[in-house]
Amino acid sequence: MREVSRLPKAHLHLHFTGSMSTRTLLRLAAERGVELPDALVDEVALEVPADKRGWFRFQRFYDIARAVVKGEDALRAVVAAAACDDAAEGSRRLEIQVDPTSYAASVGGLQPALEIILDEARAASAATGVQVGVIVAASRIRHPFDARTLARLAARYAGQGPGEVCAFGLSNDEWEGPTADWDGAFRIARRAGLPGVPHGGELRGPDHVREVFTHLQPTRLGHGVRASEDPALLDELVAAGVAFEVCPASNVHLGVYPSLADVPLRRLLDAGAQVALGADDPLLFLSRLTDQYTAARDVHGLTDAELAGLAGSSIDASFASDTDKLVWRAEVDDWLRP
Ligand SMILES: [Zn+2]
Repeated sequence: MREVSRLPKAHLHLHFTGSMSTRTLLRLAAERGVELPDALVDEVALEVPADKRGWFRFQRFYDIARAVVKGEDALRAVVAAAACDDAAEGSRRLEIQVDPTSYAASVGGLQPALEIILDEARAASAATGVQVGVIVAASRIRHPFDARTLARLAARYAGQGPGEVCAFGLSNDEWEGPTADWDGAFRIARRAGLPGVPHGGELRGPDHVREVFTHLQPTRLGHGVRASEDPALLDELVAAGVAFEVCPASNVHLGVYPSLADVPLRRLLDAGAQVALGADDPLLFLSRLTDQYTAARDVHGLTDAELAGLAGSSIDASFASDTDKLVWRAEVDDWLRP
């Protein structure tokens, strides 16, 4: 049996603070004299219902963890650890998602926060061999004007290479704010050559996927799994070439589906969707990138050829250069070769 951790792949859905292992979080907290609640570090994965209370609980833990990520050293440590962990899982390209607003105060502003992260992404790429690109993501709980500011900032660092901003996203509670209000920010990003990768279709169903598709013109959808509830919409997205960042563990831990078997991975693949598996927030779900591929094999019965197809999809859906994609694609073929 081929090892999925050796399967070359791209990791396209991973949040900054959520990327940490419990070990990294504990180390940062100890260095800063911060006491963490047991529930965050007891190595029991968070499980919440898919409602307001569930999301609030998830967000509260996330905020506690984020409060530990203060100062340049902490920002660098998170990027370095994420690249290191990804390297051990066969990832060739990591596109880590960050809202620099959350970390700006501790390093003197938005721009320094982003520059530190980009600089460390370059260093981590060189050190681990995993090419680390950065997705700047606005938050639905802030004003859309803030999102425009972030889009303008992101635009200055746009590029495909390591330590460059490769895309623009929108995260946090999908129920928060009218989606159309963020179209201005996504337009600014697109004009700078930054593709849109907003969240949509995890907590909310096809109607919201339609809104995200119409107003934000995504190149990839963060999750998008619930588009599968509307076959015509799914076909439309596939025809438009929108890729899906599918995070099975996240879906289950946030109560969207009762079990991994209920995640509509097969339905998306059967519809011809380009799927990239991602871990979303391993800190809270205790499930990393390789675990998603293992679930695809063990729970959904994907063959090695299908797993290789999935990994190839993740590489294609990344914003790396075509030259890099060709190299990694050939490595996927090597993995599959008997
Ligand atoms: Zn996410």
